[in-house]
Amino acid sequence: MKHYNIAIDGPAGAGKSSLAKALAAQLGAMYVDTGAIYRTVGLYVARQGGDCGKREDVLSKLPDIHITLDHGPDGLQRMYLNGEDVTQAIRENAVSRYASQVSAIPEVRAFLLDIQRGLAAEHNVVMDGRDIGTVVLPEAEVKVFLTASVEQRALRRWKELSAKGESPDLATIQAEITQRDYDDSHRAAAPLRQAQDAVLLDTSALNVEESLAALQAIVKERIGR
Ligand code: C5P
Repeated sequence: MKHYNIAIDGPAGAGKSSLAKALAAQLGAMYVDTGAIYRTVGLYVARQGGDCGKREDVLSKLPDIHITLDHGPDGLQRMYLNGEDVTQAIRENAVSRYASQVSAIPEVRAFLLDIQRGLAAEHNVVMDGRDIGTVVLPEAEVKVFLTASVEQRALRRWKELSAKGESPDLATIQAEITQRDYDDSHRAAAPLRQAQDAVLLDTSALNVEESLAALQAIVKERIGR
């Protein structure tokens, strides 16, 4: 197969980005983290003093947002907001919520569609998000819906933050994830749901190596790589 795209969707904290990144490295494909693009929009609106939950606030700022991205030799996706490297800034916890809020606005989703489709047209991509298999790349050669129990996802996030030296509260993290899952799957515009032709991969009982092996097996079966 000459050109292929792999879509990986699922709820927050399911391990999409680490697994997609590892899969892309193994395949020599480009890894695209679409959540980072929504985060960049949310960051801009919040920095300008806008309310990410207010449609008019977000739409009035949209024309001033110029987003670009590139990949370092390590495969890491760097995000640029009007030329400024915001790769770190978009990882702040508050930005998760801003991203979720702006992503519910149909015009924001439309605004970001070209960037995502353009990358997939030019490169073999492993793209992760919420609506990649359903909306962005409905013709993707491989679609995986990656999930895990909310308890497991919260615990993984807690470990990640603890390893960074932060002192997170597990119950708060779980409540935030539950809220974001609800918002992402109940919005009218491109809600989070499993595409009909996506393979479901539940990693609740799997460690990272086992999850990656399972993902690779799905890809191999579909595209022989
Ligand atoms: O994947 P990540 O947690 O960084 O995404 C942040 C938020 O961006 C998600 O909670 C979701 O609301 C939104 N998003 C989206 N569609 C995508 C990727 C992310 O709506 N394809």
